[in-house]
Parts: sequence; structure tokens; C-alpha cells
Amino acid sequence: MKFNTKTIHGGQENTDPAYGSVMPPIYQTSTYSQDTPGGHKGFEYSRSGNPTRSALENSLASIENGKYGLAFGSGLAAIDAVLKLLKPGDEVVSTNDLYGGTYRLFTSIFKDFGIKFNFIGMQNAEDIEKYITENTKLIWIETPTNPMMNIIDIEAAAKIAKKHGVLLGVDNTFATPYLQQPLDLGADLVMHSATKYLGGHSDVVMGALVVKDKELADKLYFIQNASGAVAGPQDSFLVLRGIKTLHLRVQRHCENGKAVAEFLSSHPKVDKVYWPGLENHPNHEIAKKQMKDFGGMVSFTTKNNSLEEAVSFVEKLKVFTLAESLGGVESLAGHPASMTHASIPKEEREKTGVVDSLIRLSVGVEDEEDLIEDLKQALG
Ligand SMILES: *Cc1c(COP(=O)(O)O)cnc(C)c1O
Repeated sequence: MKFNTKTIHGGQENTDPAYGSVMPPIYQTSTYSQDTPGGHKGFEYSRSGNPTRSALENSLASIENGKYGLAFGSGLAAIDAVLKLLKPGDEVVSTNDLYGGTYRLFTSIFKDFGIKFNFIGMQNAEDIEKYITENTKLIWIETPTNPMMNIIDIEAAAKIAKKHGVLLGVDNTFATPYLQQPLDLGADLVMHSATKYLGGHSDVVMGALVVKDKELADKLYFIQNASGAVAGPQDSFLVLRGIKTLHLRVQRHCENGKAVAEFLSSHPKVDKVYWPGLENHPNHEIAKKQMKDFGGMVSFTTKNNSLEEAVSFVEKLKVFTLAESLGGVESLAGHPASMTHASIPKEEREKTGVVDSLIRLSVGVEDEEDLIEDLKQALG
């Protein structure tokens, strides 16, 4: 089965044995009747498993070319489950421009449990190796990164991980499996904030993990059930529905992302434009190698780097909505320094390029002309 077919049918055989409904029903139930103790039909209690969630988990496994999918109550709950594979004394090597919430989870929670984190620049994937010690158990990457759109060579990172017997986890939220399939490039584990492109309609918060290895899947399933941050049936239904149009939406996100990146690049007030499809992007060649197209996330700065001007720009937007989050059909604009990345100290964030004038756009699937017109008037 090829990708577009998988988004619609992957893992969806016989999801409703009762009536053959085309979409799996929303099994809004906490428990399941048993004929005799232990005599159930595959489900006992909805933290441990729910048929609607299972349908989604099978779809997730299919679109990421994995074998096992797990759905969580949020993207951060999914990352939290991965970190629970570790023990005090273990080390993690991660990127220095992580999603702010992931950075907060690592440094404000897991650090106190005795896990050590190294945050490094990974534009040269070979640099990862320098930070690997005998205690390193996990390499955690995002590509493209948020919000600087840095690209990390997944295949090169996977080679280093294999050589040292370390797990490689990839947050694939920005790229989606339509553009990039990390498991095929050697990663052990793929994570999503399904809140973003997989759900695709800004109406649900959810997280996902996909793996190929049975032993790793069993450990994660144990954590999912034991810690209990599971996705509910209604949300599972919504994300499953979202996935069915993932390929169509992401194609348009990419087309509009390109138009917006090109418009901004030629605007006199704009300084830098960060979009991996631009030939002047430092890792454009790696992006071309591992991604099918370049996505709808575009960041930029203005020449005078003024905080007031950045704030006034986002306030003037009419088609773009000023909001946290990304990946929905509607275009959103964010100001990372005061919104998504406010939990990262100013010196830390400026080192990685999150300066006061940085604006991050999640370019939606509206008409390109309307989006450009809106940016033009707001840049004024
Ligand atoms: C949103 C996001 C997360 C966190 O996911 P939630 O669903 O908000 O918990 C993690 N990584 C990236 C790249 C994100 O954009």
C-alpha cells in the first residue's frame, strides 16, 4: 500500500465487526462486559485499551511505516512516556532549539529525577557523537526544529545511535509522515504532537508514538498503561478522521509555505527567512534528501529587530490568527520569544536565533493570494 492509500485505509480492516460502519464507532466506554472472569473480547478497561484508540493506533503505525502505534493525551505525554524508559544516571543528547514544552519537561521535571541532558547544535550530525558517553541512552531530535527550521540529518544521527547502542527518537510533528518517515531512515521511535498536522483542524490535543521493535513497543505500552496518559475515544476518532486527509492538506501547506517564504524573502523590511525549501537554507541539501517537500512552517525576522514592530505585525494580521499551536487548516502566526519559547531564558533562546523580532507562521490551506495580501498589509 502506498502512502495516500495508507492515510485512508492503513490498519483499518474490520474496525467495526458489528455493523460494518465505514468509520470506527466512538466507543465511549470505560469498561467491557466479561462472560466469565477474564472472558472478554479483547478489551477490559479503556486505560489499557479502547477499540477507537486501537483503530487510530493501527493507522499511526501504518502511516509511519512502523509496527506499533500508541496514542497519548498530548504530545508531551508521549515524550514523557519515552523518558520513563530511562533511569537516574542516564544521559540524553538533544537539540538546542527544541520545542519549548519539551525543553521544560526535560529540564524542570526529568532533570530532578537524575537524568542528564546535553542540548547541542546538530546541524552537523557528526557533532552528536562527541557528547555520547557510556551513560547515554537516548538521542532526541526534532527536524525541522521549532521555530528555527534547522534540519538534522536523521540517517547520520541513526548511524551514530546504532554504533553506540543508543535509542534515536524523532519528533516528527513539523514534517509529518507525508514528508518524512524517520523509521525508514533508521530511527527507533517517532513521536507526534497529533494536536498539529495529524489532527489538522485545531480541535484536539493528542500525542503519538510509533515504533517497529516489539520489545520497545511492549515497554512503552507498559508505561502507557501504568502511567495512564491515554488518548480518549472521541479525540482518537477526530485524529483518525484528520489523518484521512493528511496527504491532501500537507500538499497545500507546502505550496502555500513556498509562496509565503518567497514573498517574505523579497520584502524590503524582512531580514532572514527560515524555510528549508529555500536554496540559501544552510541544510537545504539534507532537507531535499530526507523530505519529500518542505512543509508549511515559515519563520522570519525583520531588519530592525524591533520587539514593538513584531508585536504590531502580529496584531495587524487578519487572515492569520495570532495563536499558539500550528498545523491546522487555518493560518496561524506566533511570536516565539513571548509565546511558545517564553519558558526558555532570553540568553539561551537568543543563542539559537529566537530573537525579539522572530515571527513563526503556520501557513494554512487558504488561498495563497489572501495570505500574501495579509502579510503585505501587516508588514505595511
Ligand atoms: C506542540 C508540540 C509538542 C507538544 O505537543 P502537545 O500536543 O502540545 O503536548 C511537541 N513537539 C512539537 C514539535 C510541537 O510542535
